[in-house]
Amino acid sequence: MTETSWRGPDDRTLRDEVSKLLCDLIRVDTSNPPGNETPAAKLLKDYLEAAGLDCELVARTPARANLVCSLDGDGTGPSLALLGHTDVVPADEPGWTHPPFSGHIDDEGWVWGRGATDMKNETASRAVTMALLARGGFRPRGRIVFIAQADEEDGTEQVGLAWLVGARPDLRVDYSIDEGGGTRMELADGRVVVSLNVGEKATLPALVTAIGTAGHASCPTTEDNAVLNLAELVRRLGAYRTRRRLVPAVADLLGALLGDIDERDLDDAVQRACSLHPRFAESLPALLGTTIAPTRLYGSRARNVIPARASVELDCRVLPGTGPADLEEELRAALGSDLAYELGFLEPPTGGSSSPTNTPLFDAMQSFFDEHDPGAKLLPSISTGFCDSHFMRTAFGTVAYGIWPCRTTPLEVLDDTAHNVDERIHQDDLVYATRFHLHVVEALTGRG
Ligand SMILES: [Zn+2]
Repeated sequence: MTETSWRGPDDRTLRDEVSKLLCDLIRVDTSNPPGNETPAAKLLKDYLEAAGLDCELVARTPARANLVCSLDGDGTGPSLALLGHTDVVPADEPGWTHPPFSGHIDDEGWVWGRGATDMKNETASRAVTMALLARGGFRPRGRIVFIAQADEEDGTEQVGLAWLVGARPDLRVDYSIDEGGGTRMELADGRVVVSLNVGEKATLPALVTAIGTAGHASCPTTEDNAVLNLAELVRRLGAYRTRRRLVPAVADLLGALLGDIDERDLDDAVQRACSLHPRFAESLPALLGTTIAPTRLYGSRARNVIPARASVELDCRVLPGTGPADLEEELRAALGSDLAYELGFLEPPTGGSSSPTNTPLFDAMQSFFDEHDPGAKLLPSISTGFCDSHFMRTAFGTVAYGIWPCRTTPLEVLDDTAHNVDERIHQDDLVYATRFHLHVVEALTGRG
């Protein structure tokens, strides 16, 4: 055995191994709800134990086990967790080119099925990384942990990472890698960037209730109809422009794209950044402040009754560091003071954590691209959605990033098939991403 045999076999052998594990995982239907992730956790356990690793199933509910596997070091270096959720969003059969739980591989090297990109691909490649390290006799300076967690897509039962970090304080690690980045983008000016998720916005849903006077619908009073008042309040919310705020992760993102920016003219910075790649036009405006989206409406329970109260639920997303008091101030500024209304929050904030980018893990990741995709630069960003990395940050203070680099599967395929029909990943990306993880583990925790 050579000193670096953990770097793995040739591409073809590696592709077969990751593809097989991914297909096996896709064939276990873990649609959430209800999840039923235990068979997937057992499948991974069998695979990893065969490579000589210690594994355990950790379950709050028997049908929804998490898998924990570790490769212990001598404690002289940083600890790292590789994560991947085993559940998937449901898949309706019609419309799929190949049945969503068949785990089909076609002649052109595409692996088809629910979870192929979100995120059994990542889970499989991280499991294979662990197996290769173990088989190759790799001894990290710090501990390497692999966690395949249940219940990311739904989360209401609190049986996945949200629960696990509390139940298992021994899983505290310095660094972790989960989903949420890895998109390779060629910018309009020729540069290449690879997205790295370093944080996310928080959800903070609110309820606005317009107050009016009840009455019979046969003689409507336009003066004080709660529904009409609500309509005006919703209009004002739609027209309101939330305040711009630059958080460190977004400042890093704009800095990486544009060099020095004038923080007093963020509109200009956003416009210039958006012209570099269509992706930015979708997400960047939402990363510079609170977003407020009116969604569900409640009015009268009877058509012939003018209600005294009518409400709208607001899906609000705030940046790390923005709390309920800040959001309330903005909502009241948007709603004005001339109409009677009540305002409340429906839930406490969820999410809203971020990790710094000046870390050894960041450097370890960048060094992979320097070698395998020269010129490509990591582009830190925060997500408008939610991901499990939040639990690692808040429970353990872990520097938690999301990335799974891929460069063969086109962006459109990733975007169009996420949580949709015909989810698929190219096998070359399974190899590429596995090599990325091997590189990062060695650069961060190897003996140099
Ligand atoms: Zn996911």
